[in-house]
Amino acid sequence: MIIDGKAVAAQIRAELLERTARFFENTGRKPCLAVVLVEGDPASEIYVRNKLNGCREVGIRSLDVRLPCDVSEEEAITTVRQLAEDGEVDGILVQLPLPKGIDAQKILAEIPPEKDVDGFSAENIGALALGKEGTVACTPLGVMELLKRYRIETRGKRAVVVGRSNIVGKPMALLLLNADATVTVCHSRTADLKAECLNADILVAAVGKAKLITADMVKEGAVVIDVGMNRENGKLCGDVDFEAVEKKASYITPVPGGVGPMTVAMLLSNVCTAAEKRRK
Ligand code: NDP
Repeated sequence: MIIDGKAVAAQIRAELLERTARFFENTGRKPCLAVVLVEGDPASEIYVRNKLNGCREVGIRSLDVRLPCDVSEEEAITTVRQLAEDGEVDGILVQLPLPKGIDAQKILAEIPPEKDVDGFSAENIGALALGKEGTVACTPLGVMELLKRYRIETRGKRAVVVGRSNIVGKPMALLLLNADATVTVCHSRTADLKAECLNADILVAAVGKAKLITADMVKEGAVVIDVGMNRENGKLCGDVDFEAVEKKASYITPVPGGVGPMTVAMLLSNVCTAAEKRRK
């Protein structure tokens, strides 16, 4: 079965429209997301445009904060600090990567955990590691939402996450662990990737290498989630050899149209949650 991330994301956006309308009724204002973009990276421009469009669609007010490509670290810090102190702003997102010479961790540390809608702060990652309530990174959260909405059981299942980045692989592994899966995390130094993957009831690929996961690495009936976004001959493709793996998997996400649309939907959901919590 092909998991339709586009359809699930549309359903989530419809639910968010109701949430933002309720928020407006109760507060007289819309939830507000500030998106900080240091100009100059074409891919980031596209991501930011998608996020701002998403906000508009679900009734979230957005602030499009642009900084010139030669902005200094101090100026960037001042900008984020002002947004942190602004009572009208519920969520702050700093689009990564930042230019060389700017320490991303320093900038992210200026975002208060309750406004950190990307879930990248040490506090929110710590909360996830401790199994406590906090904001969770949007892409792995989107994967969990897909598993939930397709009623895919995680408890007691063997999950293998390929990739250990701070924004995808690690939080993905923690979420699956918190959902009672038995989790293995693989990376570029894993000795026998194929053997590890063949154990997986749920296989999540978050590497950034086109078609790294081939059919001989997938157990019959496994659930295969492809987070990868790669360009091959101008075409977007994932980390999984979809045509071949589809024949073995019980469920599989396509690229595009799988995990991708869920990332923005979960960001918008995190903004609503942040706004609702700040009001309490
Ligand atoms: P990173 O480059 O930060 O991390 C990649 C990970 O893959 C690393 O942990 C690396 O290991 C591991 N890796 C690299 N080569 C291999 C290999 N041959 N075998 C096993 N593991 C390997 O990437 P991200 O986590 O940021 O992103 C991963 C992918 O997901 C990318 O394609 C990205 O575009 C996509 N993505 C998609 C999103 C969406 O919305 N759908 C959102 C975010 C990312 P090591 O740690 O040892 O270097």
